[in-house]
Amino acid sequence: MSRLQTPVRKNDNVLVITGKDRGKRGRVLKVVPDTNRLIVEGVNVIKRHTKPNPGKQIKGGVVEREAPLHASNVQIVCPECGKPTRIGRKVLGDDRKVRICRKCEGVVDK
Ligand SMILES: [Zn+2]
Repeated sequence: MSRLQTPVRKNDNVLVITGKDRGKRGRVLKVVPDTNRLIVEGVNVIKRHTKPNPGKQIKGGVVEREAPLHASNVQIVCPECGKPTRIGRKVLGDDRKVRICRKCEGVVDK
């Protein structure tokens, strides 16, 4: 496992810390671990102008969708203290490995 592997998981709430969407919060829809990229709901939305292609059932027009952004551009928002935080790891008594908030030591995983 690469050291750069993001601790971000699907359905986490994250805060964007760089780029044009800095300050926005959203839910992670998808994680691409190979490239450390994320798709975050409502963040990094791009407009694509598509031409109609009736043969492929594609209607023309402007389509908005989220483009992937790099995991280093976001911070996980801790569900316990509500603050953006760095993530630590901890092994619980039952050997479960969980992610914890470095600020409040709260468990981020449900
Ligand atoms: Zn916390």
